[in-house]
Amino acid sequence: MKLKHAIVALAALFGVAATGAEAQQAYPTRPITVIVPFAAGGPTDTVARLIAESMTKTLGQQVLVENVGGAGGTRGAGQVAKAAPDGYTLLIHHIGHVTAATLYRKLPYSVVNDFEEAGLITPVPMTIIGKPGMEPKNITDLIDYVKKNKEKVTYGNAGVGSASHLCGMLFMSKVGAQMTTVPYQGTGPAMNDLVGGQIDLLCDQTTNTTGQIRGGKVKAYAVTTKDRVKSLGDLPTLQESGMKDFEVTIWHGMYAPKGTPKDIMDKLNAALNTALEDPKVIARFADLGTEPEAKDRRSREFHKQFVASEVAKWKPIIEAAGVYAD
Ligand code: ASP
Repeated sequence: MKLKHAIVALAALFGVAATGAEAQQAYPTRPITVIVPFAAGGPTDTVARLIAESMTKTLGQQVLVENVGGAGGTRGAGQVAKAAPDGYTLLIHHIGHVTAATLYRKLPYSVVNDFEEAGLITPVPMTIIGKPGMEPKNITDLIDYVKKNKEKVTYGNAGVGSASHLCGMLFMSKVGAQMTTVPYQGTGPAMNDLVGGQIDLLCDQTTNTTGQIRGGKVKAYAVTTKDRVKSLGDLPTLQESGMKDFEVTIWHGMYAPKGTPKDIMDKLNAALNTALEDPKVIARFADLGTEPEAKDRRSREFHKQFVASEVAKWKPIIEAAGVYAD
């Protein structure tokens, strides 16, 4: 009797082990959805679609992008936090993921505890751009113009905590004047309105603005990084224009719901790293004014501690500014 029990137990154990190993080896066996927490056609969407295309090749299953915009990216991130931790629902988000931890008083998930980090993707510069025919000729004129016209100047953003919101706030604090905010579900639709002349200004990632700047569809004023952006060579930095310490770079990362098995997370990190070595991705990033995240910052461990340190870094800055959303 005892022996029989032992044999049954062993068989069960091996059975489970074999099924578990098989399941993990086989991952993914069906399409994966990557949620982008902003509208289609914007910069985060552009980054996510490039990465998804490359990961589809590596993983042998479709990696599909779904746009869930709203509330500065917290709607989409919240959906992923509550999804099944099986590797089939992922998130690609940017710096707004960590600022939301402090900006949103009633965030229905924990930025630090409800996700598994799959790896960092790319640090993207931003640009200050205006509608076609915008009066100020250069960034110095624009600063004077905003000082003079204050609330009469409209600027689009992707909601509280979005990259465009943070950049706009910093710009207004340096200029010392408030403009009127026009929120969108992402800067894809904000860009349409800028090109159409419905809003005056936008601060957005080069992954969305490069094409419009080169095509002469918008007026370009400055880049937000310390150094000029190679692909936008003649645009001055805000620092050159007298705004000391104005430096904004928008880092992006990939996440899965907390509890997603380690083997799956490791597989996702490897596929993401392959994407960041993909010549097509590297070339497109370069064309859009960015590059893959540095090699020594691509591990899951780095991403995890980076998220925690960025939450801690932004907390006092946001608290001092006293800006919150419910
Ligand atoms: N660039 C946007 C932001 O301001 C988001 C997007 O539409 O990708 O956060």
